[in-house]
Amino acid sequence: MKLSDFAHQQTHTLKAQHRFRTIERYDALDGPYVMHDGKKLLSFCSNDYFGLSKHPDVIDAAQHTPYHTGNGASQLVSGSSSYYATLESQLARMKHTQAACITGSGYLANIGVIPALVGKGDLVIADKLAHACIIDGIKLSTAKFIRFKHNNINDLEKILKSEYKNYNNILIITETVFSMDGDIAPMDDIIQLARKYNAWTMSDDAHGLGLVNFQNKPDIQMGTLSKAAGSYGGYISASDTVISYLKTAMRPILFSTALPDNIIVSAIAALKLIEDNPAFAHRLRELSDYACKALSIPPTGTPIIPYIVGDEQKALSLQQRLYEQGFLVKAIRPPTVPIGTSRLRITLSLLHDKPMIDALCKAILHG
Ligand SMILES: *Cc1c(COP(=O)(O)O)cnc(C)c1O
Repeated sequence: MKLSDFAHQQTHTLKAQHRFRTIERYDALDGPYVMHDGKKLLSFCSNDYFGLSKHPDVIDAAQHTPYHTGNGASQLVSGSSSYYATLESQLARMKHTQAACITGSGYLANIGVIPALVGKGDLVIADKLAHACIIDGIKLSTAKFIRFKHNNINDLEKILKSEYKNYNNILIITETVFSMDGDIAPMDDIIQLARKYNAWTMSDDAHGLGLVNFQNKPDIQMGTLSKAAGSYGGYISASDTVISYLKTAMRPILFSTALPDNIIVSAIAALKLIEDNPAFAHRLRELSDYACKALSIPPTGTPIIPYIVGDEQKALSLQQRLYEQGFLVKAIRPPTVPIGTSRLRITLSLLHDKPMIDALCKAILHG
């Protein structure tokens, strides 16, 4: 078959399933605004929760690595500068671990760390709603994979009880704040349960940085610098022993070029702002409670607000109507979310204020 025929056929199938997607061009403007096709839109779909990608300190930092724009090789060869060392210790401090390591993105962190920890003869148990890159990491690892019901500690225990004797090592994985629902994992309960069965624990904190903090720390804390840290990249925080092993065992660290130093330096500046400003999280919480109340939905306690409409077509036409009124909010459909739970995924940031939220909620509820 000709490649172009193949691509055409695949596209056709996706379109028939309403699963075909296109990448739109959105150019950043000031504050929470973007430009699309000559139209200025108020955006509610960025994961830059504290607005730090637009903070003058962060932008300034990104412009202060005068000697090069790229690191030229992997961290083990030529790319682990003193900026990396600073960022690693900052991440370790924020995550209450001994050490941390950095990867090219959060996606690479997940597909790298899981196969470095488990393989044939091991078991991974992950939350039903775990992110696609966790699933990809598990597939790459070739370990046996079982999902537990979303945030359901009883289901997790049932699986552990019946399976723990059949495997060498067991790794339990969950997100801290779930990307599409904005709800929070029962991390302390999961960690206590894991101890009972000698299982290892791993959290994906992509949406929880600076927002949630648990009493008990998972063995592995994965996260991204691309969302609330307003920059780019991924990281793992864990004990000294685990991190020094991961630095030589994670293939995306070994075989992918290190992030440019200016990306690292801007992440350092953003994390410093998060560390110095606990008020950020309080303010976001206030905005989130305000929006949930206006939409008459239960508070999520996080800047992620799912406004569930159910049907895919309905979600898409609501997205379109909002677009026409100058709002950018994305409809999220299967397979990203379960069938029948298509939704608007509204994300708030410190770049928003209450009048902006009022305007959005009014448009959603009253057309
Ligand atoms: C975005 C995301 C990632 C990937 O992080 P990137 O830095 O964007 O590659 C991983 N896990 C979850 C839950 C995410 O939402």
